[in-house]
Amino acid sequence: MNHNLEDRINALVREVPNFPKEGINFKDITPLFGNPEESKNIIKYFSENLKGQKVDVIAGIESRGFLYGFPLALEMNLPFILIRKKGKLPPETISISYDLEYGSAEIEIIKDAVKPGQHVHIHDDLLATGGTAAAAGSLIEKCGANVQGYSFLAELSFLNGQKSLQNISPNIITLLRY
Ligand code: AMP
Repeated sequence: MNHNLEDRINALVREVPNFPKEGINFKDITPLFGNPEESKNIIKYFSENLKGQKVDVIAGIESRGFLYGFPLALEMNLPFILIRKKGKLPPETISISYDLEYGSAEIEIIKDAVKPGQHVHIHDDLLATGGTAAAAGSLIEKCGANVQGYSFLAELSFLNGQKSLQNISPNIITLLRY
């Protein structure tokens, strides 16, 4: 067995060229969910990297950010909150819109899910341009809470997504870099 977690997880991520559109090399993380042992190692990796940090709440970004985000919160004995696409959560919600390559999108959270002053760690599966994660951070700040930092299973480094997160939080954990 390969003793390097990064290499083992990388071997389980499936590359799907030209999905969902031409030119996108899609990282399919679903094979990981068929592997309970490595999934537990992923959770351990994130929780160990967060040790000693002031975190009150873990927030997961819809939808793949829920998959390891909630187990991470359980592992750390912390509450978990959902950042969802508009229209999925019951009222009252706080929302924020952000620009996509074409058009715009809107994400939201339940109004009192985070309390002012709390330190929130934001988790998602993949950091691409950083637009989604930056909007999630701004949403947390709009609630009067602080963004402790971010974690991602993978990062597409060539898209420079970390740059758009720096002014929200420079604490960024990523397991895989492409
Ligand atoms: P972005 O806002 O550009 O950082 O995009 C991040 C979101 O899009 C994440 O929630 C990812 O799930 C998804 N995403 C973007 N690019 C990819 C890719 N190449 N493979 C898998 N998911 C992607």
